[in-house]
Amino acid sequence: MVNIKKWIVPNGIANKVTYENNNGKKTVTIHQTGNTDKGANAVAHAKIQLNGNPREASWHYQADDTQVIQSFEDDAQCWHATDGRGPGNLDSIAIELCINSDGDYKKTLENGAELVKHLLDKHNLSINDVKQHHNWYPKNCPAQLRAGKGSISWNDFLSMVKGKAIEAPDSKVKSATTENKANLKVDGKWGNSTTRALQQYLDTVVDGIISDQVRNNVTNAFYGTTIDFGSGKKGSMAVKDLQSKIGAKVDGLLGPETIGLLQKYLGTTYDKKLSRPSIVVKELQRRLNEGTF
Ligand SMILES: [Zn+2]
Repeated sequence: MVNIKKWIVPNGIANKVTYENNNGKKTVTIHQTGNTDKGANAVAHAKIQLNGNPREASWHYQADDTQVIQSFEDDAQCWHATDGRGPGNLDSIAIELCINSDGDYKKTLENGAELVKHLLDKHNLSINDVKQHHNWYPKNCPAQLRAGKGSISWNDFLSMVKGKAIEAPDSKVKSATTENKANLKVDGKWGNSTTRALQQYLDTVVDGIISDQVRNNVTNAFYGTTIDFGSGKKGSMAVKDLQSKIGAKVDGLLGPETIGLLQKYLGTTYDKKLSRPSIVVKELQRRLNEGTF
């Protein structure tokens, strides 16, 4: 069993970020922290809670690649599910999985899965009682599991909880179907062919056109006729799917925020800008060719 360190938040502080100590313990809710900064690990998140979280939020456990730290007893009704006095906050035990860039992502998931298994056993729950934050409130959390980061999907995570070894990402890459692989020139220039490959990968209409966009520094940096400014600012389906995959706000419009999150997702320099040509586009093209985006 993964080692659980107890750093329980004292009463005076706990009272301000929880309801009563009457948790029904009917489900376990998985979150991911949304913070990829170096050092944003379990210790850092436990300290935020110990010091009186400036956000009106709380969670029972945080896991990283080395350990699990418990901040609240399972009986506490933490504020984590964005559902007020709903079944998420009142009757669920919350786990934050760290996504710090200096951590081993897969190892964190393994520790988190072990913790979930421990809680299911302890409270006599089943695998169907493992929920996403998204089940309580339409927020894209846990974002990386929902997006299949590192080729590990939500179902893979549930398999880990059930104690099945998951397929190594490498062998998944090899078994990726050839239709999912593009044959793009890796030149950092995002034009119609890159859009077409992305659309194919995301399983949306494949026409090479990103429709209904707004003029800005990002959309002006594309090549050829792939950007269609249209008239409605309704945004594009492909961009919506892209945004949902990388954990961005889903409005279908390409702008600095989406490019910034794409840079974080692909691990390239983070400046929210699209150069001509661009490093983040090169990495996108490379991944689309490999079928590993
Ligand atoms: Zn969450």
